[in-house]
Amino acid sequence: MEVKNKYVAIKANINGAPEESDFEIKVENLSRIVEPESKEVVIKNLLVSIDPYQINRMKSQSSSQTSISYATAITPGEVIDTYGVGRVLVSHRPDFKKGDLVAGLLTWGEYTIVKEGSLLSKLDPNLAFPLSYHVGVLGFSGLAAYSGFFEVCKPKPGEKVFVSAASGSIGHLVGQYAKLLGCYVVGSAGSQEKVNFLKETVGFDDAFNYKQETDLKSALKRCFPQGIDVYFDNVGGKMLEAAVANMNSFGRVAICGVISEYTNASTRAAPDMKDIVYKRIRIQGFLAADFMPVYADFLSKTVEYLQDGKLKTIEDISQGVESIPSAFIGLFNGDNIGKKIVKVADE
Ligand code: NAP
Repeated sequence: MEVKNKYVAIKANINGAPEESDFEIKVENLSRIVEPESKEVVIKNLLVSIDPYQINRMKSQSSSQTSISYATAITPGEVIDTYGVGRVLVSHRPDFKKGDLVAGLLTWGEYTIVKEGSLLSKLDPNLAFPLSYHVGVLGFSGLAAYSGFFEVCKPKPGEKVFVSAASGSIGHLVGQYAKLLGCYVVGSAGSQEKVNFLKETVGFDDAFNYKQETDLKSALKRCFPQGIDVYFDNVGGKMLEAAVANMNSFGRVAICGVISEYTNASTRAAPDMKDIVYKRIRIQGFLAADFMPVYADFLSKTVEYLQDGKLKTIEDISQGVESIPSAFIGLFNGDNIGKKIVKVADE
């Protein structure tokens, strides 16, 4: 097989905010790599996920890199793995055949050689959704939203829920799951366009532009005069401090991510610990991958909500491998609304 694979790599470790000059497009010849007698599957990548956590893999050092296999350090010059959807080009395994549509651990490139044991599953041909749904709402973003909200926050109908980075991939789903349960939901986001999107398109009760607030504690007091019961945290930093100050007794905080702390080593949340003690607040970090046991439940409920039109998912899709660096950098500048995906090739 003679295939040239174009892929994105980092030139060196990135320890601050990512820039275009940190990345390069490389080309490798797959014919030198694929062994016919191996159990490998060669995938033509179609859609690949663009996620903030990759920045922690690009650093010289981060505690996250030893936490779980998919968060290991990225080596400069090497391919970068990511969740995505593709089509089988060559299979040396009996459970996959040429032409199958699959989802799994692919790469920021045109092709992926999936080794035995790596995450790969066939897509259900009966699900009449766009392929991109399998990267976002039915993939790990959806699972993170669903498991973080229902399993970690343990919400009850009528509770008051706050979501940060609410117009993002995970945030816009969390708010809708919360509304479907019967909660009161407020989101924060970084522009008026995003605030309008939250209130008008995905049905949040209220939303505010955190970049226009001089005092986040007062902003949350204004939105939640009776306090917050559940905080789904995507950003950390000052927003986490402000949310804790406004939490009710026995409130729950799910730490999904702390994007405001990823690119700036001097930004660290310092919530008032007395609040946590006296209000008996539970703060729990989680990883979506911990919740594979609820995957079937997540999938069946989410598919039903999508089919019934009760859940909307919004995607922000860029075109071509060359757009991957700017798509990724854009996450840290707030460029995206909804799930950020790059379409690498047509079906
Ligand atoms: P996303 O929200 O689609 O994209 C990132 C958004 O974060 C941006 O659009 C931007 O929106 C906001 N942002 C960027 N820098 C910020 C800052 N300094 N302060 C406040 N907001 C900032 O990304 P996502 O995939 O849904 O991920 C959201 C969070 O969940 C991230 O922290 C990510 O690492 C985490 N995550 C966790 C898991 C898990 O298993 N625990 C899985 C996936 C993702 P604004 O315009 O609103 O600023």
